[in-house]
Amino acid sequence: MPKSLPNRADVVIIGGGIVGASIAYHLGKIGITNTVLLERKQLTSGTTWHAAGLVGQLRASRNLTELAKYTTGLFEGLEKETGQATGFKQNGSISIALTESRMEELKRGASMAKNFGLAVDVISTGEIKERVPHYNMDGVVGGVFLPKDGQVNPIDVTQALAAGARSLGARIFENTKVTRIIVEKGAAVGVETADGTIMSDKVVIAAGMWSRELGRSIGVNIPLHACEHFYIVSEPMAELPRNMPVVRVPDECTYYKEDAGKLMVGAFEPKAKPWGGGGVDEEHAFVTLPEDMDHFEPILANAINRVPLLETAGIQLFFNGPESFTPDNRYYLGEAPEVKNCYVATGFNSIGIQSSGGAGLVLASWIKNGHPPMDVNAMDIRRIHPFQSVREYARDRVSETLGLLYAMHWPYRQAETARGVRRSAIYQATKDLGAVFGEVNGWERPNWYARDGVKPEYDYDYGRQNWFACADFEAKQLMNNCAFFDQSSFAKYAVEGRDACEVLNRISANNIDVEPGRMVYTQWLNERGGIEADLTVTRLAEDKFMVVTGAVPQTRDMAWLKRHTSGDARCIATDITSGLPMIAVMGPKSRTLLQKLSGADLSNAAFPFATSQEIEIGYARVRAGRITYVGELGWELYIPAEFAAHVFERLCAAGQEFGLTPAGMHTMNNCRMEKAYRHWGHDISDEETPLEAGLGFAVAWGKKGDFIGREALKQQRARNTQPKRLVCLALENNSINAPMIYHEEPIYRDGVIVGSTTSGAWGHRVNLSLGLGYVRTEAGVTKDWIESGKWEVELAWKRHAAKVQLQSFYDPKGERIK
Ligand SMILES: Cc1cc2nc3c(=O)[nH]c(=O)nc-3n(C[C@H](O)[C@H](O)[C@H](O)COP(=O)(O)OP(=O)(O)OC[C@H]3O[C@@H](n4cnc5c(N)ncnc54)[C@H](O)[C@@H]3O)c2cc1C
Repeated sequence: MPKSLPNRADVVIIGGGIVGASIAYHLGKIGITNTVLLERKQLTSGTTWHAAGLVGQLRASRNLTELAKYTTGLFEGLEKETGQATGFKQNGSISIALTESRMEELKRGASMAKNFGLAVDVISTGEIKERVPHYNMDGVVGGVFLPKDGQVNPIDVTQALAAGARSLGARIFENTKVTRIIVEKGAAVGVETADGTIMSDKVVIAAGMWSRELGRSIGVNIPLHACEHFYIVSEPMAELPRNMPVVRVPDECTYYKEDAGKLMVGAFEPKAKPWGGGGVDEEHAFVTLPEDMDHFEPILANAINRVPLLETAGIQLFFNGPESFTPDNRYYLGEAPEVKNCYVATGFNSIGIQSSGGAGLVLASWIKNGHPPMDVNAMDIRRIHPFQSVREYARDRVSETLGLLYAMHWPYRQAETARGVRRSAIYQATKDLGAVFGEVNGWERPNWYARDGVKPEYDYDYGRQNWFACADFEAKQLMNNCAFFDQSSFAKYAVEGRDACEVLNRISANNIDVEPGRMVYTQWLNERGGIEADLTVTRLAEDKFMVVTGAVPQTRDMAWLKRHTSGDARCIATDITSGLPMIAVMGPKSRTLLQKLSGADLSNAAFPFATSQEIEIGYARVRAGRITYVGELGWELYIPAEFAAHVFERLCAAGQEFGLTPAGMHTMNNCRMEKAYRHWGHDISDEETPLEAGLGFAVAWGKKGDFIGREALKQQRARNTQPKRLVCLALENNSINAPMIYHEEPIYRDGVIVGSTTSGAWGHRVNLSLGLGYVRTEAGVTKDWIESGKWEVELAWKRHAAKVQLQSFYDPKGERIK
């Protein structure tokens, strides 16, 4: 029977899995009630129906943990609110370590959980045995218990969310497939179905593993690929306690859940099986895939050893179902950069049930207000690059990402699949020099250079890794002589046209209306004063600028620039990253080296700090910019791609006399930490303002014309001191055994948690274990408050005395640069 679809809705959601239902529910909660949810088949018929239903709370950052906590709270109350059962049980979860390194990882996670306000405990083997007596404790080192973790029935929760959404006004149509998303003038304006067209202000793609193709049909890039995902369910076991916590044994790639007297055993195996490479069948619903005992057998063997009851219980169900995974193992949320008013919530990497509440909450707010309610950059769809949708790339990468859930989360861990995608013009030359590469958005970047017999591959550890001595050498050469960095991966845009200056000056908090040849360090702010981007703008001519930003925000920053360029402005932005490799030459001898090489006058008078000029190197013309991210005198050389190899050869030949050393991204990171140069995505985000981040010096309060975020900043500046402020930390312990700071560790002042670290590294030039982080006090963070406190940082469940200060630990006056 034909349905009577409405002609119009405020929001159309495509997909009736748990995520689509949650978005409809949360839109209703914030007053957007004219919502239509369209489901191709039946609610939950995609991936949701067969999920195991584990609901964990600890995630990799504070905000994501807050969202997971929110989801648990939502599930707890949903039955009462909607009258629909959800199967919610809160028996907690135990993660078990079988190695010392895993135990350190779990303890670091426990410190993070404590920092985020979760109930958590580090427990001994004996305590684990008390909670799960039927488990074999062979090889167990210890564990961590999160009492508020739980489990649900995913089908019931989805029905409850749908019921809640309906009661708030949403209309849900099953057996209604969206055949086309209608796009006009670069914006989504509605959808077509066999039963009619619905025009809408916003369209949301929440179509699970079908999302890639739907996005592709309108030029929206949604890289994901399905993998087969397995679990078994045992016959009933009388011995199984009904209050059994969920148990994870990541070293054996397994999780265990009690389900109506049976034991469910699921797997996150290291090498997964990609599925549906030719596209997912349009008619596919409630699908189960064939069992693959050969693939599951090693997991099952581990499980029988760990829970001997399984040996006799028998397997009632062997389940294999598809779920979508993404190249970086993080899901996608937000407005697509390619099409206005088209929102995305998909690619849930096997945590869609436990993420559904938070994702729905965030996306609903994003739709209503045009921006996310908190920093969710890690999930933002704008992090994606077009090549990541290439089927072969996605397929190869997801075979690795599924297993990452339970793999060791080593610091600096590098992807092992789909490598060698984007290479700089000097890739092979740096490889010949011993470069060991890391990967960022497909770019192969020298992270460190192997020397003195160190094997050119990573040997991971939570302490000092095998490249420590190599990075130490690089940093010392940089400090005493000079070093070069291949920074070709940094994104560059040419911004040109009569109105380019006006457009950029309105977006930038600093003044970019400067003389041609000047470089300006600036942030791009949102209306709330939060930092959307952190970059440099070089004025090349009256109507011509070059913007340089990091490799990660390449898509995002361009999207921000375009969204904030009005349709009638004469201003064109072009991404010129591919054509313009960049080699930075840094260190006290960089001036003499480059002067000799180019014949140019690079003195302070002729080439001051923060200026840019064209110079000649060999047969090439190169744009040199005097700026630094490592805190030394130095120049960034922007070289047209076809000249890069030649310039590099000349540089290396001339550099010998000056001790020019190749240096990697690890050294760059260690050095920027010593200088407390903020890193967007870690130390600064759309949630922090320049005043909180200590970047007030880059705000041009008195410049001509307005800039985005000025009003919010002005209000914040009315307070002399900020309740939240970025600080520099160093552990008192600077011995060879000093532990490393990474991120999200609790910072204590006089025994009370007052903040968290945002990043950490060893400072080779100052010989200290360093961190950056935010601390908070209502009265305002002042020098006195900092100096009068006793400071500690908690690492892996243990507190360490620390020094805290506002200025950097290396060359705080910047004398070496100037
Ligand atoms: C074996 C297994 C175990 C899992 N265990 C857990 C767990 O313990 N905890 C956890 O958090 N997660 C778990 N997951 C992951 C979880 O199931 C998914 O992340 C989640 O269900 C994704 O929900 P979704 O709404 O994004 O996608 P889906 O449930 O796939 O929903 C998308 C919907 O969109 C519809 N659709 C597609 N195209 C169209 C169109 N053109 N028009 C209209 N509708 C369309 C589909 O029919 C589908 O119903 C597990 C997954 C598997 C496979």
